[in-house]
Amino acid sequence: MLDATKINGFHIITNGNGNGKSNGYHKDLLTKAPEKAAIEEAVRTILANVGEDPDRDGLVGTPNRIARMYDEILAGYHVDPVKLVNGALFDVDYGEMVLVKDIEYFSMCEHHMLPFFGRAHVAYLPSDKVIGLSKIPRIVDMFARRLQVQERMTSQIAQMMDEILQPRGVAVMVEGSHMCSMMRGVKKEHPVMVTTTMLGDFKEDKELREDFLRQVRR
Ligand SMILES: [Zn+2]
Repeated sequence: MLDATKINGFHIITNGNGNGKSNGYHKDLLTKAPEKAAIEEAVRTILANVGEDPDRDGLVGTPNRIARMYDEILAGYHVDPVKLVNGALFDVDYGEMVLVKDIEYFSMCEHHMLPFFGRAHVAYLPSDKVIGLSKIPRIVDMFARRLQVQERMTSQIAQMMDEILQPRGVAVMVEGSHMCSMMRGVKKEHPVMVTTTMLGDFKEDKELREDFLRQVRR
């Protein structure tokens, strides 16, 4: 059973009821949730100011589509990490490295609100507990589906693994292609950014670290 105090430091943002503000909203938006109406109105403003006609056929539904899409691609703010791992921690007498690799993720860069995406590799050295295999991709997803920088996402995944499992070590590597650098400028080379966080034995023990890197690349 996971203790809620163990996940201190993780932001759990629940759906607010909005502030009820409606000034300036299009009148057909007033019956919708204030958050969605505000996003729709903001998207209309962007469309009108990049030289588009927000009322033309192809665009008229776009603000609403974007507002609804954010529910999905930014859903990580509303995930409760306690519920996410509840019931999936098991006592097992196994001390070797557990590695889940090639976890596909899609995130949004907080500087440009454009996607970055790639693969995450998550390893830990159990002390007495292991976590259900399917939960690790869900932990990655919870942090990916927010406005992020790749460096912080990498360390948040590692910190959460550390807090819930209290293992002897955690290693996380994230590889990411960033649309904000791919779409802008004239460069046609698209480097993949690699970030790593090593905790506990992975940080102290060079051989373990190399074993992790070797298995990730295999
Ligand atoms: Zn960016």
